Amino acid sequence: MTTPNDSGRTGSGSGKVAVVTGASSGIGAATARALARDGFSVVLGARRVDRIEALAEEIGGRAMYLDVTDAASVERFVATLDRADVLVNNAGGAKGLAPVSEANLEDWRWMWETNVVGTLRITKALLPKLEESGDGLIITITSTAALEAYDNGAGYTSAKHAQGVLHRTLRLELLGKPIRLTEICPGMVETEFSLVRFDGDAERADSVYQGLQPMVADDIAEIISFTASRPSHVNLDQIVVRPRDQATARRNIKTG
Ligand code: NAP
Repeated sequence: MTTPNDSGRTGSGSGKVAVVTGASSGIGAATARALARDGFSVVLGARRVDRIEALAEEIGGRAMYLDVTDAASVERFVATLDRADVLVNNAGGAKGLAPVSEANLEDWRWMWETNVVGTLRITKALLPKLEESGDGLIITITSTAALEAYDNGAGYTSAKHAQGVLHRTLRLELLGKPIRLTEICPGMVETEFSLVRFDGDAERADSVYQGLQPMVADDIAEIISFTASRPSHVNLDQIVVRPRDQATARRNIKTG
């Protein structure tokens, strides 16, 4: 039953398949939950299979190993899908926080391979199925880092800019086809993001979120749920969302 303020989201996914990459934690896991609640049949992809299997069981979805940096893994993943109506390009992240003069090339490679080439691989492989659905939707989680540069962040900001341009180019190239494209650019969301960025240093990761109120994964998942429930003729092109306590990538209530 719909409630007056659910904006038509309940049941919006009925009979449709939503693929969520990076569904083992953070925004991806919250998105899988939200889309399953909306009635989508959710296919969860990530490398930590134990986690996606547990979540798939909880929400009645399907879990499949996926490494977006590995062409064979993407091929196997896509081969198991009979249909795909929604693709949420969420797999990604940052490694390190260093000035260009001290750039770690391995970190740069990881960020470009995962955020940029990974998004390209899975999107390219799923395009035929999204088109066949007659009403496809590609949601890409870039970042405010796709819109602005900041000190010590060039590896991540350059990768997110490139991922954003890939997504925005597709919006142009797919005009006339039954596929919508939405880019979501979040500011600070408390997930495992900083833990990954700082190579497992929990204290450093926690300090990022101390003294301000960041967003949580559910905040972004609800925006994705809203996006996926708009009527077919409505394309939300780009959504920029930050915590109230953060004005730019580097300016927040702690930094002033
Ligand atoms: P997270 O909790 O670290 O989640 C990242 C997800 O990406 C994990 O499920 C991880 O799964 C998956 N992943 C990483 N490499 C992968 C690969 N090679 N193949 C498949 N999956 C892979 O961080 P999050 O904050 O939810 O991040 C989700 C997205 O939001 C990322 O694209 C991130 O850049 C973006 N974002 C985050 C923030 C933030 O402040 N948190 C802000 C803006 C944008 P496995 O390790 O199990 O494979």
